[in-house]
Amino acid sequence: MQEALAKARDQIILDPDELPGSWYNVIADLPGEFPRPIDPEEGPSRLEYLSKVLLKHCLQQEISTERWISIPAPVQDLYRQAGRPRPLYRARRLERFLRTPAKIYYKREDLSPTGSHKVNTALAQAYYAAEEGCAGVSTETGAGQWGTALAYAASLQGLKSVIFWVRSVYDWKPDRRALMQLYGGKVFASPSYETLVGRKILEKNPNHVGSLGIAVSEGLEYAEKNPGYAYCLGSVLNHVLIHQSIIGLETMKQFDQIDEKPDVMIGCLGGGSNFGGFILPFAGEVVRGKRECRFLAAQSESAPNLSRGEYRCDYGDHAEKTPLLKMYTLGHQSDMAPIKADGLRYHAAAPFISYLKHLGHIESTAYPQDEQEVFEAAKTFVQVEGFLPAPESAYAIRAAIDEALECKRKNRTEVIAFNISGHGFLDLAAYQEKLKF
Ligand SMILES: *Cc1c(COP(=O)(O)O)cnc(C)c1O
Repeated sequence: MQEALAKARDQIILDPDELPGSWYNVIADLPGEFPRPIDPEEGPSRLEYLSKVLLKHCLQQEISTERWISIPAPVQDLYRQAGRPRPLYRARRLERFLRTPAKIYYKREDLSPTGSHKVNTALAQAYYAAEEGCAGVSTETGAGQWGTALAYAASLQGLKSVIFWVRSVYDWKPDRRALMQLYGGKVFASPSYETLVGRKILEKNPNHVGSLGIAVSEGLEYAEKNPGYAYCLGSVLNHVLIHQSIIGLETMKQFDQIDEKPDVMIGCLGGGSNFGGFILPFAGEVVRGKRECRFLAAQSESAPNLSRGEYRCDYGDHAEKTPLLKMYTLGHQSDMAPIKADGLRYHAAAPFISYLKHLGHIESTAYPQDEQEVFEAAKTFVQVEGFLPAPESAYAIRAAIDEALECKRKNRTEVIAFNISGHGFLDLAAYQEKLKF
């Protein structure tokens, strides 16, 4: 009886005490030699440099080979305070609208206090920064979601936060800037006059619109030159994807509860943190032969790192301050056309994701730069399910709808799961511009 009830539920909700107690580290399940970060042949050691500006706990996790990393009790409390565990919804209304035989589920990371999944790693990093006696944290942000998440998490720990924000986005998102500032964040448009890197670029071109790679270089330089500051990263690195695994671990419990298994899991991908967090616990089981599931990353033609990049060693930033990481990359100084889903505009995909792609476990698709079909998909979702996704999350919705329509054409019953990485309440101007209303 209880099982039948559970099966009929369209919102799968975990109790606060069902929050997973450990993060998952996929490295323990990766076959072969997972490529480690290396130094370039010339110039100073980037590995040493990074070890000076990053948090010790994060560095340890970056190289850890343990499958499970326990989540400190205070971080578990912060997760609950931020509304975790988050629900998994059955998109019953979307299924009916599409007349698809597929079953569609979505994970609600849009319920985050600052608007995205980025709080999952921000809360952990700010906690470690406080533990390590830091006065503040510095970082970069593209769409603004990571900057907001870190400003929020720092504020809860009583820490300062300094954020270098890609200028092209900074200029058109005054509301998000206000939110960062309300959390006590100090926000600079990047390139800025605050750093050497920024000043050099502005000397050549005072109207430079910036890039995530440049903002990373500025955030690093700030932490290097200001005692008591640690540099925090919001995506790409192993420790970030480890923290984000909380998304997939909850999702796995939720599917177990309704005795269902996803056939395909979909997420949008910029650097790979929400996609990785969502799929990696499942991908680990696929690699070990314990599960079958496809994984599909949805990206933009503006930054099709997985879809069109090369698998090789590359820097994580414009100024070549980071070590070389083996990733699918478009090149660390490549120009990417501006899009509204700015969070997807990064030149490379996380080493974990790139390695799994290289092994043939991950598929990807890239949507045109005009973003028309992506915003149309988001509009459908808003109108039938009722929730407003971030422009980035709209890519996952587009891919999930395409998958569901393919099921309809082939009359295939499939279980589709996608992640809504964030909400779009501070992105309504983008909706207006793209959908012309
Ligand atoms: C940052 C962000 C992304 C893209 O970054 P990933 O590291 O690839 O997840 C996607 N969606 C939202 C809402 C974001 O804030």
